[in-house]
Amino acid sequence: MHTETFAIHAGRRIDPTTKAVAAPIVLSTTFQHAPDSSYDPYLYSRYDNPNRAALEECVAGLEVGKQGLAFASGMAAATALVHTMLKAGDHIIMPSDCYFTMRRLVRELYGEWGLEASFVDMSDLAAVEAAIKPNTRLVWTETPSNPGLFLTDIAAVAEIAHKAGALCVCDNTWATPLLQKPLELGCDAVFHSSTKYLAGHSDVLGGIVVTRDEGAVYERLRLYQKVTGGVPSPFDCWLTLRSISTLPQRMKAHCENAMKVAQFLASHPNVEKVHFPGLPENRFHALAKRQMKDFGGMVSFEVKGGWDAAIAVCGKVKIFTCATSLGAVESLMEHRASVEGVDSPTPHGLIRLSVGLEHYDDLIVDLSQALG
Ligand SMILES: *Cc1c(COP(=O)(O)O)cnc(C)c1O
Repeated sequence: MHTETFAIHAGRRIDPTTKAVAAPIVLSTTFQHAPDSSYDPYLYSRYDNPNRAALEECVAGLEVGKQGLAFASGMAAATALVHTMLKAGDHIIMPSDCYFTMRRLVRELYGEWGLEASFVDMSDLAAVEAAIKPNTRLVWTETPSNPGLFLTDIAAVAEIAHKAGALCVCDNTWATPLLQKPLELGCDAVFHSSTKYLAGHSDVLGGIVVTRDEGAVYERLRLYQKVTGGVPSPFDCWLTLRSISTLPQRMKAHCENAMKVAQFLASHPNVEKVHFPGLPENRFHALAKRQMKDFGGMVSFEVKGGWDAAIAVCGKVKIFTCATSLGAVESLMEHRASVEGVDSPTPHGLIRLSVGLEHYDDLIVDLSQALG
């Protein structure tokens, strides 16, 4: 089945009692036992719920994995992975350019529990290999990365990890399963902040993990999900699944718009540098063509004049909204260094764009007047 069809039908069934076409939202936290006290399939909504099961089934299928596990936020899902794949004294390798809160999770919280972390530029495979230690148990990739749009060769890094006896995870939030399938490239699990493209409308927080098989990694994650209970509400699951119906169409439009915006920025005299793998001169262009179906909806660029010049641009836009987050229908702009703080490795003049679904001509006119 084609992805466009699968995204609309996976996890959906006509409700057998009401014949409703749009799935009912099941708010009940508890489900009646059979006369012999058994239950099938639902017991209690921390464990499982029809709306969550439908979402997990759909995303697992999109990622061509075996099982999906939904959490209340991306960070709750990321914590589940770190917690179940690692123990005290283990070592994790992370990308130096990565979602800022991931750095805080492994350093500030799991550091206290004896987790060791190294941050490396994963576009350099020799650097990944050199970072391996006897206690390395997990290599975390994020590609394209936030906010610099660095690309990682997923298959090569997964091989390095596996040779060292470690697991490999990919944060696929930016590419989405429409553009990139990390499990097919050798990862053991794939991670999403479903708050972004999967939900796509800036109105629901969520995280999803998909595992390659139903082995030990999956078993530990399901246990963690059931026991710690950081699960999404039935309504959040319903909203996210509804949005996934349009994900294939939204991604086509995000990619087209981002390409136009990146081309415009690359030709602008006040722009120092554009980070977008779709541009032929980008250092990740060849890898992107090999590993991704298209180049995505995220673009970063560096304004000439650094911090102050970038802030000035953010202050002038009218169609872009200056706000954090990404992956939604409306275009967003953010000066990342302001959000990440003074110790952030992000260039001071860098502005991150989440290119939405407005007409690209309007977005380009807006950027043009803001850049002066
Ligand atoms: C937003 C984001 C996260 C965190 O997800 P939340 O849903 O905000 O908890 C992790 N990774 C990437 C790449 C993100 O963009």
